[in-house]
Amino acid sequence: TRTSEAEDLPHATKKKMADHLRKYEALFTLTPQRMRMIVEAFKESLELGLSKPGQVVPMIPTYVFGWPTGKEQGNYLAIDLGGTNLRVCLVTLQGEGKFEITQSKYRLTEEQKQEDGQQLFDFCAECLKAFIDSNIEGGDIEKGAILPLGFTFSYPCNQNRIDHGELIRWTKGFGAPNTEGHDVVTMFRKSLDKFKVSAEIVALTCDTTGTLIASHYVNPKTKIACIFGTGCNAAYMEHVGDIPKMAQLGIDADAEMAINCEWGAFDSFEHENLPRTKYDQIIDETSNKPGEQAFEKLISGRYLGEILRLIICELIDEGMLFLGQNTYKLEIPYSFDTAFLSLMESDPTDELLMIIGIFTHFFAVETTLAERQFFRALAKLVGRRAARLSACGIAAIVSKMGYLEEGCAVGADGSLYNKYPGFAERIHEGLQDVFGEKGRNIITYHAEDGSGIGAAIIAAMTKDRKLANRY
Ligand code: BGC
Ligand code: MG
Repeated sequence: TRTSEAEDLPHATKKKMADHLRKYEALFTLTPQRMRMIVEAFKESLELGLSKPGQVVPMIPTYVFGWPTGKEQGNYLAIDLGGTNLRVCLVTLQGEGKFEITQSKYRLTEEQKQEDGQQLFDFCAECLKAFIDSNIEGGDIEKGAILPLGFTFSYPCNQNRIDHGELIRWTKGFGAPNTEGHDVVTMFRKSLDKFKVSAEIVALTCDTTGTLIASHYVNPKTKIACIFGTGCNAAYMEHVGDIPKMAQLGIDADAEMAINCEWGAFDSFEHENLPRTKYDQIIDETSNKPGEQAFEKLISGRYLGEILRLIICELIDEGMLFLGQNTYKLEIPYSFDTAFLSLMESDPTDELLMIIGIFTHFFAVETTLAERQFFRALAKLVGRRAARLSACGIAAIVSKMGYLEEGCAVGADGSLYNKYPGFAERIHEGLQDVFGEKGRNIITYHAEDGSGIGAAIIAAMTKDRKLANRY
C-alpha cells in the first residue's frame, strides 16, 4: 500500500523534503513586524486614493450615501456578474429589516469572460429575461411592470453618479474586449432594450459595497465589509469631508458615502511592499494583466491553488516528486483548484485519504504519506499567508478610521472566507499580531448577501433619495 511505500521513502528524500519545507516556511511566513510595515504602507495608499483621482488603489466614491434605515421597501431585481457565476434575484424588502429573496444562478464559461463585452451583457439580459418570465409573471407583481434593478458589477469602475460606471480594468481573469473605459450601465441598458427586459437599472454597485450595506442592515455594528472569494476587496463608510478628491463637487462635508477601496490593486506595478515569491511573480507575469492586482494575486481564490501547483511543478522538475510517474495533468496551468487546498487542510484522516483522492482522481498520480503531509504543510503556508495579508488590509482601514478602541464588526463573504478551514481564525490571529490585545476588538463575521439583498437595499435607498430630492 501507499503507507508502506511512505515508510520506504529513502532517508535522503525525507531529509530533502524537510529542508524544502523550512525554505518555504521562511518564504511564506509573515512576522508581526513585517505585517505592521505593510499596514503602514497600505494606509498611505488608501489616503492617496482618497486625495487624488487615478491612484493605484482607486478608493472609489460609490454614491451610496450613508447607512440604510431598515425602512426600505418594495420589489427589486438584482443581478450580479461575479467572477464565477451570474446570479439573478428578485428581492422583496418588507421594511423593519425583513426581506424575501428568489434567485437563479448561471455558470459563466471561460470563453464568455473573453468574448466581446456587449455579448457578455446580452447574455446577462437574456438570463434576466428568462428569470422574469418564470418567476414574476403571474405572481402578485403586476404583469409588464418595470422593476427597479440593482446591478452588481464587481470590477473597478469610476462613478460620477450611482447609475453610471466606467470600467477601469477587468480583474479575476476577465478580458472581454470593448469594455474597459466604457460605461457598463449604458452597455447593459442597450442589452436590456434589445431583449425587451422590463427592468430599469437604478444603481450600479460592487459586491463589497452591497455587502457593507446588507451587513449593516442586519448588524449595525458593521463598519467594514470584505470579499475573500475569486477576487478580494473591501468597502467602508467615509465622511465626504475626508475625501479631498470630491471637494469641488459641493456635497455636504458632513454627509457619509461608502468607498469601494478596490484594495486588490495595492502595491501593483511598483511591488515595493508585499513579500512576493518567485511563484507569485510567475503568476503575475503569465496573467492577462501583468503588474495589476498585486495584493489580490497573493490572496484570492483564483490564485492560491496555482501558487501551490507551481511549487509542486518545481519539485517535479528537481526530481523530488512523482519520479517515474506521468505528471502532465499537474503541469496544466490553473488545474489545481483552491478548493483542493481547503480539502487538504481539512482532511481528518491519519492516512490523509482525501489528499490521496485528489491526486489520484484529478491528477492520476500516486502519493506517499510523507508527500501528502508535505503538501498539506505547503497548503497551510499558502492559506495562512493569504489570511494574514487580509488582516493587514483590514488593519489599515481600522487604523485609518480610528476604529480600534471602540472596536468594529467586519462583514465578510466569499468562497475563501466561507469555506477555507481556519481562514477567519487566521485573520483574527493576524489582527492581534498587528494590534496586540486590542486586535480582539475587531471581529469578522459571515456577512449578509451583498449582491442580492445589498443591491436591492441600495436601489431602494437611491429611490428614496431621489424622492427626497437629495444629492
Ligand atoms: C474586483 C472587486 C471585487 C473583488 C471581489 C476584485 O477583483 O476588482 O471589484 O469587489 O474582486 O469580488
Ligand atoms: Mg461574488
